[in-house]
Amino acid sequence: MSFTSLGLSAFLLKALDEQQYKAPYPVQEQAIPALLKGKDVLGISKTGSGKTAGYLLPILELLSKNKIEKRDRHVRVLIMVPTRELAIQVNDSFGRFSHHLPQQIKTMAVYGGVSINPQMMALHGTDILIATPGRLLDLMHSNAVHLSQVEILVLDEADKLLHLGFKEEMDKIFSFLPSKRQNVLFSATTTDDINDMQKLLLHQPVKIEI
Ligand code: AMP
Repeated sequence: MSFTSLGLSAFLLKALDEQQYKAPYPVQEQAIPALLKGKDVLGISKTGSGKTAGYLLPILELLSKNKIEKRDRHVRVLIMVPTRELAIQVNDSFGRFSHHLPQQIKTMAVYGGVSINPQMMALHGTDILIATPGRLLDLMHSNAVHLSQVEILVLDEADKLLHLGFKEEMDKIFSFLPSKRQNVLFSATTTDDINDMQKLLLHQPVKIEI
């Protein structure tokens, strides 16, 4: 199996080559075609399996397909993560694969533990927002982020999001999302809480267990 046969465009293949990604990992073989078809994905896989590229490559492919009007930019992809470290890591990964995009896509990570004002100032025009739940809610309350146009929702390390007690914040955030959207949930474990959450969020998901 090669990245070419998964349906990714030349601009991503070039970036993959530069990053020395020679062949897709199993989670990517399954997640990339499913997400490119517009399906929801439930991934049970550990850190180190390659799950990040499993969702970020198809997201970049999908976003690059429809032109973004400069005048009317809004958050199109929301990626919720449990920690600041993961937020920064995911943002860096997007950066590494964005070098040859046919048009600019702005990605930004927001998280707590640092002052909110610089984040508020920098948010304008963000296409892909990577966020921890508490800080995202604060930014929404300050009117700095609007989620009414989100097309794709990703929960990364969903078990950890729940374990850290973010359930209430996440439920609030979900209530601001449009009901028609594509959903991705990655978790290292399956618990009752994860099952409840995936039933609530995912629509006939493709299930991947690695
Ligand atoms: P993740 O599970 O997404 O945190 O990825 C684990 C590590 O594997 C990261 O350092 C990635 O850069 C690397 N990686 C992911 N997919 C591939 C691939 N297809 N080929 C080589 N390295 C990869």
